[in-house]
Amino acid sequence: MSNIQFIDIKKQYKVIEDNIKQAIHRVLEHGQFILGPEVQALEEMLKSSTQAVDVISCSSGTDALQLLLMAKHVGQGDAVFVPAFTFAATAEVVALRQATPVFVDICPETFNIDLRSLERAVEQAKQNGLRPAGIIAVDLFGLPANYPLLAEFAQANKLWLMADAAQSFGGQIDQQKVGTLTDMTAFSFFPSKTLGCYGDGGAVAVQDLEMAKYIRSIRVHGAVKTRFDHHYVGLNSRLDSIQAAVLIEKLKIFEDELKQRHHIAKTYDALLKNHVKTPVIPKGYTSAWALYTVICESAQRDRIEQIFTEKQIPYNVYYKKPLHLQQAYAHFPRAGKNLETAEQLSTQVISLPMHPYLTQADQAYIADLIKSC
Ligand SMILES: *Cc1c(COP(=O)(O)O)cnc(C)c1O
Repeated sequence: MSNIQFIDIKKQYKVIEDNIKQAIHRVLEHGQFILGPEVQALEEMLKSSTQAVDVISCSSGTDALQLLLMAKHVGQGDAVFVPAFTFAATAEVVALRQATPVFVDICPETFNIDLRSLERAVEQAKQNGLRPAGIIAVDLFGLPANYPLLAEFAQANKLWLMADAAQSFGGQIDQQKVGTLTDMTAFSFFPSKTLGCYGDGGAVAVQDLEMAKYIRSIRVHGAVKTRFDHHYVGLNSRLDSIQAAVLIEKLKIFEDELKQRHHIAKTYDALLKNHVKTPVIPKGYTSAWALYTVICESAQRDRIEQIFTEKQIPYNVYYKKPLHLQQAYAHFPRAGKNLETAEQLSTQVISLPMHPYLTQADQAYIADLIKSC
């Protein structure tokens, strides 16, 4: 029996236990549970670590996306282009705002949105009588999408470009951090993300102060100046002070953890490169290594799943069913009848245990099991 964890939140807690307890204790003592001083302190820290013009915390990654869509006044008749190979939240928020998600295929190497498929999706949206509004690119598994190319395409087609960076806090392209790769970025602090709290949490990073002001207002019921002066229809989407306090402590060890994630990814690469297709990181790109996902033949994946289950090695398949084939989303338009890469990869990918506290011995054991398949 192994005690390898898929993501080891407990081991991380043991490393920073005293600091976490003191930080939570301080909130219990001052009693400002909603928008207390920790929230502002965290936002300042996130601003300086990402170099974004402003960062506004909120209650989840899903709400971060929704707040940005609200700031862009997305609504009925708008087409928003999203990759089909992502977590449901990316498309869900579009539908929630009464707009239409249009599904796009992904690149087989990077798992991120494919430009040729995006072109087709825009044509499809127009044919359906929709107004092409914007793109939500997803930085899947921690690898930033191709923002330079996407920005060019967005500009040529008069679309806005948003980053679903729920998985990529800590990633970068050249020296530029996720959070500034485009004008609008959504982060998630769900516990299993690269920066996670002890509950739900999220944030948006924006490069425009007017937009920041608007989002700060709509995350608290559209209030301005006083709590009961409502200028806009908003949400209740605040990050709890206790979660902010936890995130502050976790941010302090984030750079060290990120280095460790890189080290673990390199070790996996070396152990596995002759046996499965290991992740491809384009030149100049830095993944945040939220997940380490390999590609293999479908039959081989079945065998790996079987042996991992037998040996109690935790694993996940992100994603077994692309969004355009999900019951809730199948009726929305897509870039073509089939989104072949997304469909094919859903039968071939498997994500291995990945966290900063994984030991070399555990990695070697996992690799040996894969080799036996
Ligand atoms: C986790 C995730 C989200 C949603 O974040 P929550 O904080 O759980 O709401 C959105 N998009 C992607 C790609 C994610 O992985």
